[in-house]
Amino acid sequence: MEKGKGKLEKRAGSWGRVEAALAVVVLSLVAAGPARGAAKPYVMASTQDLASLAQEIGGDRIEVESIARGYQDPHMVEAKPSFLLKLRRADLLIAVGLQLEIGWLPPLVTQCGNPKIQPGAPGYLEAAQFAEILEIPTGQVTRAMGDVHPSGNPHFWLDPQNGLRVARGIKDKLAQLYPGDAAYFEQRLQAFSQRIADAEKSWDEKMKPYRGMKVVTYHRSWPNLAKRFGLNVVDYVEPRAGIPPSPAHLIELIATMKRENVKVILVEPYFDLKTPNSVAAQTGAQVVVLLPSVGGEKEVTDYFKLFDYDVNLLVRALQAAR
Ligand SMILES: [Zn+2]
Repeated sequence: MEKGKGKLEKRAGSWGRVEAALAVVVLSLVAAGPARGAAKPYVMASTQDLASLAQEIGGDRIEVESIARGYQDPHMVEAKPSFLLKLRRADLLIAVGLQLEIGWLPPLVTQCGNPKIQPGAPGYLEAAQFAEILEIPTGQVTRAMGDVHPSGNPHFWLDPQNGLRVARGIKDKLAQLYPGDAAYFEQRLQAFSQRIADAEKSWDEKMKPYRGMKVVTYHRSWPNLAKRFGLNVVDYVEPRAGIPPSPAHLIELIATMKRENVKVILVEPYFDLKTPNSVAAQTGAQVVVLLPSVGGEKEVTDYFKLFDYDVNLLVRALQAAR
C-alpha cells in the first residue's frame, strides 16, 4: 500500500495539468481503498471471458479482475475513473484486440500512466493473436464506414477451441513474467485443456441433431460459435456490425427469413428486443437472448458455464424450430 502510493506520487510530478487533477482523484481513492496484503500478480482483463481464462491458468497465484461486465456491449463500455485505479496497479493487461475495445480501453490505458501495461510492454497481451479469426475483410473496410469489425470478427472466444488457444497464450505470458510459477501454470493449462475436451464432447452431443439449421443473429457476435457447432447464420438484424437496422433492411430480412424458413433470431442481451420481436412476429420465428460473455447472467460465472448456458438455450430453441 505505502509502496504503491509512493510510486503514484512520484509519477504524478511529470504529468500535465489534467493528469494531475486525475491523480488527486486516484490518490484519494487509493487512500480510501482497503489495504492489500502481500501482492499476488494483479491481472486486469478487458472482458469477463478473458478474466475467466486467466483465472483458469493463474489459479490462486494471481488476482484477476475485468473491466467490462458480461451483460454490457463490449464495443461500448463506459470508462469509469475506478478502472484507472485498477489499471494503475495492474501487472498484466489482457485485451481482446481487433479493435473491439477501441472506443474505451486505449484512453484508460494511456491515462492510467502505468508503463507496465502499455501496448508493446511485456505486461500487455492481446488475445486475438492466438485465436482463429473469422470474417477478415478482403476489401477495404474502415470504421469510417461504420463497421465495428474492420480487422476481422473480434468475438472469437465463442469457440471453445479459441478459448483453449487463448489460455495457452496466457500461460506462456504468465510463465514469462513469473518463471518461478511456470510449472504451476503449465499444470493448470493441462487440466483446463482436459476439462475443455470433456465439455466439448457433451456440447457436441447436444448440438449434433441441429447441425445445418438456419438462424438469424442481431449483431455478428456468433460466427465462431456457429462454425464450431454447425449452425448456418443466414442474415443479421444489423445490416453491418454496429449499424442499427433501417426499415429497408428489415423488409429484406423478413423476406429472407420467410424464403429460407428461419425460425430462430439470436439476440445479445444488450440490444432492445422491440425490433427482433417485430421481425419474429412477422416470420413466425422465436427470439432467443443468447449470452456472448461470461457474466451475462448471474449464474454464468465462468467460461464453461457460458457454453453450458448457451448450448442449453440453443437446443431448446432449435428443437422447437425443427
Ligand atoms: Zn462486434
